[in-house]
Amino acid sequence: MAISEETKKALYQRAGGRCECTMINCDHGDRRCSRSLSVGYWDAHHRTAGGPDTLSNLTAMCATCHKNTRTYGRS
Ligand SMILES: [Zn+2]
Ligand SMILES: [Zn+2]
Repeated sequence: MAISEETKKALYQRAGGRCECTMINCDHGDRRCSRSLSVGYWDAHHRTAGGPDTLSNLTAMCATCHKNTRTYGRS
């Protein structure tokens, strides 16, 4: 299910326009990614796949990080 533009906008604002990814399998290691999120080139990742489209269940991720998630292409 697609996330609404309104939710994505709020997520972008919470993230301060930077990737919120903290996955250890990314090239940024155990730190927050913090790459800037370019418009149209980032994604809202569900912390719990199939979970609700609420800010608490979403992480703003740059395209590089999103490709590293196990659920990429499925959520
Ligand atoms: Zn990132
Ligand atoms: Zn990452």
